[in-house]
Amino acid sequence: MATKQVPVPPPNDDVPEEQVVETELPPGEPETFTDKLIAKTPWWAMSTGIHVVLALLMAWLVVIGSPPDDDDAVVVAPPRKPRVIPDMEKPPDLPNEKVLDMKKSTEDPVFKKEEEADHNETEDNEEFQKAKGDSLDFVSDKPFKGKGTYDTIGTGGGGGGRYGGRLGGKRNLVNKGGGGGDTEDAVLSALKWLARHQNEDGSWSVQNYTNRCNRLPKYASGGKCSPNPGQEDFNTGVTGLSILAFLGAGYSHLSKDTHDGICFGDVVKRGLQWLMNHQDPEGCIGPRTAQKYMYNHTICALAMSEAYGLTGSNLFKDQAQKAVDFVIAAQNPDKGWRYSYRCGDNDTSVSGWAVMALKSAEISGLSFPRTGYEGTRNWLDEVTEENYYRVGYTHKGTGKVFVPGLNESFNHHEALTAIAVMARVFMDKNKSDTRLQGGCSLLVKDKPAWKDNDIDFYYWYYASLALFQFDGPTGSYWKQWNESMKDALVKNQNTQSTGCKSGSWETVDRWSCEGGRVYCTAINALTLEVYYRYANVFGTK
Ligand SMILES: [Zn+2]
Repeated sequence: MATKQVPVPPPNDDVPEEQVVETELPPGEPETFTDKLIAKTPWWAMSTGIHVVLALLMAWLVVIGSPPDDDDAVVVAPPRKPRVIPDMEKPPDLPNEKVLDMKKSTEDPVFKKEEEADHNETEDNEEFQKAKGDSLDFVSDKPFKGKGTYDTIGTGGGGGGRYGGRLGGKRNLVNKGGGGGDTEDAVLSALKWLARHQNEDGSWSVQNYTNRCNRLPKYASGGKCSPNPGQEDFNTGVTGLSILAFLGAGYSHLSKDTHDGICFGDVVKRGLQWLMNHQDPEGCIGPRTAQKYMYNHTICALAMSEAYGLTGSNLFKDQAQKAVDFVIAAQNPDKGWRYSYRCGDNDTSVSGWAVMALKSAEISGLSFPRTGYEGTRNWLDEVTEENYYRVGYTHKGTGKVFVPGLNESFNHHEALTAIAVMARVFMDKNKSDTRLQGGCSLLVKDKPAWKDNDIDFYYWYYASLALFQFDGPTGSYWKQWNESMKDALVKNQNTQSTGCKSGSWETVDRWSCEGGRVYCTAINALTLEVYYRYANVFGTK
């Protein structure tokens, strides 16, 4: 009897597809033509759909008895019990677990971090363990020693570890990369906004986050956050993105740092628990009834991988691996990804999140076949213009991408080129690849500016990652970009005087129409964490 998946409705034909405007490249110098940005950032909505289907199916099984034993039979996998993150001070499976394959990690191009130790101590000689609040308290009870940088995620003593820059000596890394107290204040303020707008069940809502407004008197004077655009289909995605914003700053489910009376570790814990409770038997996180659900899944797979890699906790290992397995399973053979499981279409935006999830899995000691990267390379090669290094959306030379009726007025930016640079750096660590230099030269010609129809947080996020990797923290490309990026984001974040909106960004960017205020705030926090979120692949000078 063939095993089939729980029935999933086909993609909703009513969902507007991005339209791609084909534009001829003018002879000579190419114009910024095409945008194709990303198919919007995904996020979706409720798991009720699949649960209702399951419930109906179970009811049917009870009434009808066993389904006929033929190829059309449907087998519902027994419900898998997600792990529960315990309310303990110190989970017994946390410390000393050698999650990392030392050999593999040592070869890893991204988190080769012994050298991080040099500048991973705070400039004011603050005790390392206190460098980031209490966040390190339970990551390991063993001090870092020698080469063991990788076996405990760089705790104690100054080792960086895979994500070590997030955990200790952040201030040095921020300063070195051109950030400062203002960028760190902005990150904290954004995280505080996210923390107080998290749903009780641990998720975040694109639209209904306003139900959480005014919980804290401190922010209640200005009224609720104003309503915003966005689609509840992307709730899973914004939940993953919000968790990533906390992980990116070094907060895990074990952190005890409390701001405005909210424990950040508890925020992360409840968020991760929500992801774990909404993973289906095949590993997909969030309902497949949501449009473009692979956006949601790849972002959440990245969050699960990071949660595992950052803490080494076995609480997350199986489900993080399962999430990565689903990323691989959903990949088009020898190519990339798009909105749904092996849909045959590819786009560079969803593929960017997928490769980020795979890279995180790699450095976290999870496993996946080489086909993950190989297909990604094939796809990126196929859509990269040979002479200009510009990267397409669904094919080489695609035009401007927009959702009809939502964001066609926004200008094009090279978000996809940025994604390709970042992906190639992370996968291949080959600085002589001319497509890196070529792509980055396009990015620095289009620096962040807070102007109507030019605001594009998604582009700013990926270009910041790409440029910081290519020649950060001290290169000229990075410096030029960084000043504009800080100027745009820090100065336009809502301040305390705005009441409940304080710490968030207004939904004025190109993809706010899909992810709303939660998306804007989470992705901008991640952009401002660029100085320490990932170490420089090509080393630091
Ligand atoms: Zn609010």
